[in-house]
Amino acid sequence: MSEKYFLYARKSTDVEDKQVLSIEAQITELRKFAADNDLQIVDTIIEKRTAKTPGRPKFGTMLGRIEAGEASGILAWHPDRLARNSIDGGQIVYLLDQTRLTSLKFPTFWFENTSQGKFMLSIAFGQSKYYVDNLSENTKRGLRQKLRRGEYPSHAPLGYINDLRSKSIVIDKRVAPIIVQAFELYAKNQSRYEDIADFLASQRLVTRGKGTKYKKDRIRRILSNPFYYGHFVYKGEIYEGTHKPIISKKLFDKVQAVLAERGRPRKANHSEPKVYCGLLRCYSCGLMITAEKRVKNQKNGNRHEYIYYHCTKKRKDMKCLEPAVREEALDESLTELLQEYALPDAWKADLLARLEEDERNEQSSTHTFMATAQTRIASLQSKLQRLLDSYLDQDIDRDTYLDKKAELMREKKSLEEQSSKLTLDATAWVEPMRRWLDEANSICKLSLESDKNEKKVLAKEIFGSNLFLQNKKACSARPKSLSSPLKNQWTALRAARQSPLARRVNLNLAGAQGWEYNFYR
Ligand SMILES: [Zn+2]
Repeated sequence: MSEKYFLYARKSTDVEDKQVLSIEAQITELRKFAADNDLQIVDTIIEKRTAKTPGRPKFGTMLGRIEAGEASGILAWHPDRLARNSIDGGQIVYLLDQTRLTSLKFPTFWFENTSQGKFMLSIAFGQSKYYVDNLSENTKRGLRQKLRRGEYPSHAPLGYINDLRSKSIVIDKRVAPIIVQAFELYAKNQSRYEDIADFLASQRLVTRGKGTKYKKDRIRRILSNPFYYGHFVYKGEIYEGTHKPIISKKLFDKVQAVLAERGRPRKANHSEPKVYCGLLRCYSCGLMITAEKRVKNQKNGNRHEYIYYHCTKKRKDMKCLEPAVREEALDESLTELLQEYALPDAWKADLLARLEEDERNEQSSTHTFMATAQTRIASLQSKLQRLLDSYLDQDIDRDTYLDKKAELMREKKSLEEQSSKLTLDATAWVEPMRRWLDEANSICKLSLESDKNEKKVLAKEIFGSNLFLQNKKACSARPKSLSSPLKNQWTALRAARQSPLARRVNLNLAGAQGWEYNFYR
């Protein structure tokens, strides 16, 4: 009897979902998967909402129907289709713990209803992926790939051309030597930008439209472009390019020294993004918190610049009274909040030891299973051979032969499959767990001096979209309407830290049945 499943397909207009299969494609793939794996689909549920924040109507209804016993499994393309926030993720884990939900199937993700499986799942639900995407919300995934490969994703700078055939950037044989000369000329520290522009114009390098000589700004950009020695800058980040350099880093550095000596310091960029933007929402009205720079001129002539974070206050149906907060104060309260989730050194050491022991056990039991399976496969192989011999000797008839052969083949196939799956899966959860221990432990070292971006990454990971600004403080809040307890490795860690004077602290890292760990402190 096959289990009953809901087929759940979701795609929103979020940036994160851009690369996700269309709903139609998800459904096609999932139906095929269901047929291949003999899953009984009781209903297909389609949702076009974001999963970053709780409150998807169809998702909620589906969970209700699962609680009512209509189905006990969900089939979706990837865990991130089900949840991208810790509340929805927590509800799924809760239903698994309650055994209302007994199975989750994803063509792209291995899940088994065990404590390790649930741990992996909560990581997949979690915000790490969301954050990776969010980090470069203006860069598409394909673009990031390109950047990682060292391909400049834009128009080739002067001296190079975009070669359409090889889809790469190649040296422009006519222009490149002129650019090199310009660098050499400027390095002598006897030319102004205008002189370089004149030199380039004399070599027929002029603006494309009007054919006039380059402006100062263009010259400065050429002379400070690391592309020419093999690197490139994209959205403020430097990458190692795969294109051929035309000048040495040494010449480039010399030119930079001259530029610095001649040029005035560049003005700070006013539109520079504020670090904690996109992290918190207003507690009163739920809108995103934004930031702005405010300048205070004192009577004595001193001038101070502050960064303030505040609600966008764009809701028409209510007047928001949440006060603005200075970046320093917000940073302090966020640092304090994060500390609640720090994994102390001693705990980490204990857990690592435990993890390694589990890993060893897992490996040795895998080993035992594999050895048994190999013996069994070998014996099936020789049975098959004997069967064939009997058939050829005409001791048995063709039908008996075929029946018996099919039976032996099936057993052999499933043993082979189990062995190969086991090799892959047995310790798949160890690495994420180890990374998590490092990450949780790193919180111990957070202070006001720590890198704010690092804190932002952690906060995104722990709170997802459930971080609010309330009365000038960062706080994580959970809507009261939710009945299922929020369960993930972070909340477990926090609960462990907060348990009263008890000598033993129980850190249940992976759901109800497994991976419980008692600390002595
Ligand atoms: Zn507000």
